[in-house]
Amino acid sequence: MLTLIAFGFTISLGAQIHQTSSASDNSPNFVLILADDLGFADLGYSGSTQIKTPNIDKLANTGIIFSEGYVSSPVCSPSRAGLLTGINQVKFGHDNNLANNQPGFDPEYLGLPVSQKTIADRLKPLGYTNGLIGKWHLGEKPQFHPLQRGFDEFWGYTGGGHDYFSSLPNGKGYKSPIECNYKTPTPISYITDDVGDESVQFIERHKDRPFFLFASFNAPHTPLQATKEDLELYEHIDDIKRRTYAAMVHRLDINVGKIMESLNQNGLRENTMIVFMSDNGGPTDSNASLNAPYNGQKGILLEGGIHVPFIMNWPKTLPSGLRYNNPVSSLDIMPTFLELAGGKNHGITTDGVNLVPHILKEKVGPPHKELKWRFTISAAIRDGDWKLVRLPDRFPMLFHLPSDTSEQKNVALKHLKKTEELLKKLGSWDVRLPHPVFLEGAVWKQRQLELYDKKYKTKQPLTQ
Ligand code: CA
Repeated sequence: MLTLIAFGFTISLGAQIHQTSSASDNSPNFVLILADDLGFADLGYSGSTQIKTPNIDKLANTGIIFSEGYVSSPVCSPSRAGLLTGINQVKFGHDNNLANNQPGFDPEYLGLPVSQKTIADRLKPLGYTNGLIGKWHLGEKPQFHPLQRGFDEFWGYTGGGHDYFSSLPNGKGYKSPIECNYKTPTPISYITDDVGDESVQFIERHKDRPFFLFASFNAPHTPLQATKEDLELYEHIDDIKRRTYAAMVHRLDINVGKIMESLNQNGLRENTMIVFMSDNGGPTDSNASLNAPYNGQKGILLEGGIHVPFIMNWPKTLPSGLRYNNPVSSLDIMPTFLELAGGKNHGITTDGVNLVPHILKEKVGPPHKELKWRFTISAAIRDGDWKLVRLPDRFPMLFHLPSDTSEQKNVALKHLKKTEELLKKLGSWDVRLPHPVFLEGAVWKQRQLELYDKKYKTKQPLTQ
């Protein structure tokens, strides 16, 4: 059996698929908590001087903090496609964010390709009950619906975002009605609280058998809407956008605490693996998030777009309060869950690895030799300490991350051989990838390029 995997290459861990095990009472539960558009720097444990997040900090400080944790895309939908399949989504054409269908493309393909299996698809035959609470954003046509993709229960919305206070029976877009297959949904109160409450109820309903809960929060994605009570806590922040964002993250933290407390009360905390992460970096331009010390933001491949808060917590097996410093990826979640659930991932194509043996030092060396990204106009590769970003209108950017965390010094000319080597690796990967199966509007290409020229804050504000 192969044990070390080069990221970005299709790997086969064996010859055939064997999912013969079934969940026993010892099988861990999985709770995947996904924040939407959360800035790297906006949690207590990641250095925020403004926003208090005691519950997420507790999760971090009693579990594993992945200090070099990445997502596979700097925007929502492709990041979720990679996260849920364990395959870099550009390998099946899910490069782009879901938006209106573009001329010449078949709208029947506007979603996570049905050829791909999700974590839920893979856990179901192992005896897991799977629930999605919150945002889907992997297609709105019936064939892409979460209940067709391995989830047994769904409370939420299939689009890319939602109003925090309002859903209308005939509403469209962010005002769309809440869908639910296990009860008639009541009107939303504040959607972050609703996702937290529904997550707790899912745990209550399924506490006796192994489950996978995907708590897919809307927060702190736009629209910037917070409760009066939470805004008052942050009234010392003058900038109203930043104040609202802080209040939204605060409310997210309260609901993460609610989920943890429910696991505690039901005696499930010890054998439940909780993963907390953001689906992409903070869009500093739209929600006033902060990605310090990283440069860049959502939509681009500088660290600010893809280097995210990433925590794993499983008291039964993992150490408490460990910082794991090798690069890891959201693509590692599927194979980690699958193997812990007793599924033998023989023959399953994945770009991720089970992280547990690496954390426990049962396997030596980093989980990934390389990480690669492609998103519309740009592509990037991280190879050890080096990172190269390739853009259409300029010389490539090469950064030495340990000495230049904030990607301020392009050393491509100084290290021409390294630049050449990484360009070659990136290019030979890129040309073997399929075409995207859907596109975003062309205007986004220019917007993304412009984001590379903006100046970003790479330090926390000094004042509270
Ligand atoms: Ca997002």
